[in-house]
Amino acid sequence: MPVLYAPRLAGKARELSGYLTQGYRALGRILSVDPPGIIAYLVADEDWSRAPRDNTRPYPPGLPYFTRSVEPPALVLPEELSTAFRPRTTATLPLTVWHELAHAFLLGREVVRTPVWFREFVPQAASAAVGRRAGLPLDEYLSRIDRDPGFTVRGFRGPAGAGDQMSFQNLLLVLGAAALDEFGEDFLRRIFHALWEEDEIVDEERAEELLGEALGQGGREWLVSRPEFQEEPL
Ligand SMILES: [Zn+2]
Repeated sequence: MPVLYAPRLAGKARELSGYLTQGYRALGRILSVDPPGIIAYLVADEDWSRAPRDNTRPYPPGLPYFTRSVEPPALVLPEELSTAFRPRTTATLPLTVWHELAHAFLLGREVVRTPVWFREFVPQAASAAVGRRAGLPLDEYLSRIDRDPGFTVRGFRGPAGAGDQMSFQNLLLVLGAAALDEFGEDFLRRIFHALWEEDEIVDEERAEELLGEALGQGGREWLVSRPEFQEEPL
């Protein structure tokens, strides 16, 4: 996967290129799909306001994103992650890169609207799956997550501050990692393909059904039993 970068960021580009290659290969295998034709821009702080994006206004600095505003579509990666990303371990950067890469894989085909927890659960679970394959110290990262931020993944409502956004993403990562432990990684292939086949807006009920079915036998019961998945914190 090509990475474009300012000359002074060559070292960072090498590091990111390693994660991108790992993620690109792993996701292609996990999902049984041809990887999308995409590119990555590693953007220096001073160039952030000129990075390709979907909106006219620049995005907050330090937040990676995927955009289809250029051809080929691009992952835009900042030279340093925002301090909002926490916990900070050796897993933080690769997990973040793989999360955006998973969005890019999913958006390689048309996808209908889904509830926000579902839209973000899919890349979080995919990122955890790549991490497991790559031997990332995922448990250390997970052990530092606050499991009770005062909301659940379904109770989370935007717009939210950066801290709550991160807590929301981390709860989804906990749920994704637990699903991988319980059901293995095959559910990811099923959920991506199910989403590509869905042609009407996915509501709460349908999202729960899709994920429950993708998980496999006992999936839905397991899902509704999870603390992260309740309507309100337990
Ligand atoms: Zn996301």
